[in-house]
Amino acid sequence: MALVEIHDVHKSFGAVDVLKGVSMTVDKGDVTVILGPSGSGKSTLLRGINHLERFDRGYTKVDGELIGYRRHRGRLHELRPREILRQRANIGFVFQGFNLFQNLTILDNVTEALVSVHGVSRSRAEERAREVLAVVGLADKEFAHPRQLSGGQQQRVAIARALAVDPALILFDEPTSALDPELVGDVLQVMKDLARAGTTMIVVTHEIGFAREVATNVVFMDDGEVVESGPPDQVLSNPREPRTADFLSKVL
Ligand code: ADP
Ligand code: MG
Repeated sequence: MALVEIHDVHKSFGAVDVLKGVSMTVDKGDVTVILGPSGSGKSTLLRGINHLERFDRGYTKVDGELIGYRRHRGRLHELRPREILRQRANIGFVFQGFNLFQNLTILDNVTEALVSVHGVSRSRAEERAREVLAVVGLADKEFAHPRQLSGGQQQRVAIARALAVDPALILFDEPTSALDPELVGDVLQVMKDLARAGTTMIVVTHEIGFAREVATNVVFMDDGEVVESGPPDQVLSNPREPRTADFLSKVL
């Protein structure tokens, strides 16, 4: 059974159809890279998987659970906000803009969800935070505040925070797009390490080199649809669809 199942999801904002029936599956340990021009619906798709956005049609399942709903006596019922939070807690999300709490230390940024959502004791949460900060190479920054770190370091904190709760899946939405070029490599390296350690990830990125090196599957989206998908060698080197080839010629 796939760890993530996205089935025919649709989403409109007003008269704009942003997702027009997107389906894909991601197996445990897979790294799916989603490519596509700006406005093609990539962020909306990721946000829907994590219930930050509600799809109009279709469904997503993560780790055997239908996102946002439960089945009871053969019928679907919407989950209550509390239950949605619990589901969401099993899915990490790394945003382009880091989204760290500016007034908290690095350690507290990482422990926050563990304590407040997962009910882990403060001492256990701090122990776990130190483990994951070491994984991203920031063991020495626990007492710093976000503004004292570079963008690349802040993004590594955001990755540590996502990792801390040991989620079934981590979603990355253009994690390196806001970084100065010289800071991109360290963040990609951390993501490669996670991939090699078997973390299931869906990554929206324009970093074709990353896709080539670590993706198990590449999905090209345009205009709210999956245009083509397959192993990186095939999609990146021998795209079947002209729209994919055209996009690649612009980003490579
Ligand atoms: P991508 O991440 O591929 O650039 P998005 O999913 O962010 O694409 O956006 C796809 C389209 O949906 C864009 O045209 C965008 O303007 C529109 N859109 C996204 N979020 C909203 C929203 N909350 N309200 C209205 N339009 C939105
Ligand atoms: Mg986006």
